[in-house]
Amino acid sequence: MDIHEHQAKEILAGFGVPVPRGGVAYSPEQAAYRARELGGRLWVVKAQIHSGGRGEAGGVKLCRSEDEVRSYAASLLGRALVTKQTGAAGKGVYRLWVEEGSDIARELYLGFVLDRKSERIMIVASAHGGMEIEDLAERDPASLVRMVVDPAVGLAEFQARELAFALGLSGGQVGQMVNVLRACYRAYRDLDAMMVEINPLVVTGAGDLVALDAKMSFDTNALFRRPQVAALRDPSQEDPREAMAADNGLAYVGLEGDIGCIINGAGLAMATMDMIKLAGGEPANFLDIGGGASPERVCQAFRTVLSDGNVSVILVNIFAGINRCDWIAKGVVQAYREVGLTLPVVVRLAGTNVEAGREILRGSGLPIVAADTLAEAAEAAVAARPTSAAA
Ligand code: GDP
Ligand code: MN
Repeated sequence: MDIHEHQAKEILAGFGVPVPRGGVAYSPEQAAYRARELGGRLWVVKAQIHSGGRGEAGGVKLCRSEDEVRSYAASLLGRALVTKQTGAAGKGVYRLWVEEGSDIARELYLGFVLDRKSERIMIVASAHGGMEIEDLAERDPASLVRMVVDPAVGLAEFQARELAFALGLSGGQVGQMVNVLRACYRAYRDLDAMMVEINPLVVTGAGDLVALDAKMSFDTNALFRRPQVAALRDPSQEDPREAMAADNGLAYVGLEGDIGCIINGAGLAMATMDMIKLAGGEPANFLDIGGGASPERVCQAFRTVLSDGNVSVILVNIFAGINRCDWIAKGVVQAYREVGLTLPVVVRLAGTNVEAGREILRGSGLPIVAADTLAEAAEAAVAARPTSAAA
């Protein structure tokens, strides 16, 4: 789960990372008020969306008067900002962060990620911040410094100092960098983060380190024990289809095609995506209903899939171990009744109570296409699309 820059700054500041003073604004008036409250003569107005690349997309602006803050805020709020990370639809700007302007001497890059190979938190840093990490890795790979943290020891002071030196810091900045690194590491570990990124971490004209931008994302599977983090979720920044699925405890990923998929297990879901492609179709989503799905849950899965207007056929593929085919079949029939389904539905059932499940589908009198194998199911789904009849 991602959070906004201002939330990440607040969290990191709580762990001891220096950040510029600022405030959130939901209206142009409030933005101007924030500027007045902060005082000074230079402010930065920043669109709060779950995406990087805002600077290049016009989502970050230096302003020199309250009027400028107000009119820039008015031009941003309520519209979608398209960055190279958001896709063509962009992300809606509903809040801004107004902060005091900083005097930048140097921009550094600092990131904490989970390195799956070493199964540890890895620190990635560069003396050339400001750019996206992907661009940095491409344009200046030699500038990237990587360091793995031993979880039993934590981030040792000598490691942190070594990293500071590698970035060309000296004097009092080394101690400041050690503090920033340890604060980020603690925030990462204590809050079950998946990523902490400060880009840029700047050295100011006065020689101090300040986090000008901050990004954090969290392990969704750990949110149950991090209620303060879970409360920071912003549904306005999520794919509405995925948000609806998450609310119902379904694992859902929206894709571009028109074949809606209801499947149990991520492995079977991936195999089904492959078979659909092999049969010449495109999946509209990846929906895993998990194990032990009740008819109600299956019905909810149908609602979620149908909320995507591109869906023209639904493929249900269940290999029931913990699941029960009769429950799945009941769910499919219930979905027809409750959701008022009109699209073609292809169902492939295998495993526990498969005969009972098939019997329920046959006995329902509904126009459900039954398939025995995964390949048959994928081909039937592709053939059932109204578009494929026209083509
Ligand atoms: P991103 O593009 O979404 O990563 O947004 P950032 O918060 O990183 O802002 C983009 C760029 O705006 C930074 O790399 C800085 O160069 C610039 N910027 C942000 N805040 C300030 C500031 O207070 N003063 C100055 N001079 N530039 C800033
Ligand atoms: Mn940035």
